[in-house]
Amino acid sequence: MTHDEIEAIAALDALGAATPEEARAMSAHVASCDSCRRARDEYAEAATMLVTSLDPVPPPATLRERIRNAAVAAAGPAAFRRRDGGVPAGGTPALRFLVIRSELHVDCTQNHQRAR
Ligand SMILES: [Zn+2]
Repeated sequence: MTHDEIEAIAALDALGAATPEEARAMSAHVASCDSCRRARDEYAEAATMLVTSLDPVPPPATLRERIRNAAVAAAGPAAFRRRDGGVPAGGTPALRFLVIRSELHVDCTQNHQRAR
């Protein structure tokens, strides 16, 4: 891949939009390329500043349940059970991470739309 392609992936990765293959290719490249590593770090910093500079907007009350239902439908209920067979009230750490990440995305999208 070219440096320009890696920089484009770095921009996507900062927003959580790079594919796993793209993220792997970028990680391998930046291990030996100072300019792309710098670009990756700058995109990550810009994305962090964007998120932290926006006022939080509470997501719709039904969003958490819709995300949970979609995750269970996609991965199956077994993916969200504890090793002892029980289902944690708030979901597994991975599910909670997905819910929080999705809510942050909604917050950012709503803030971005209001800022226009
Ligand atoms: Zn490079």
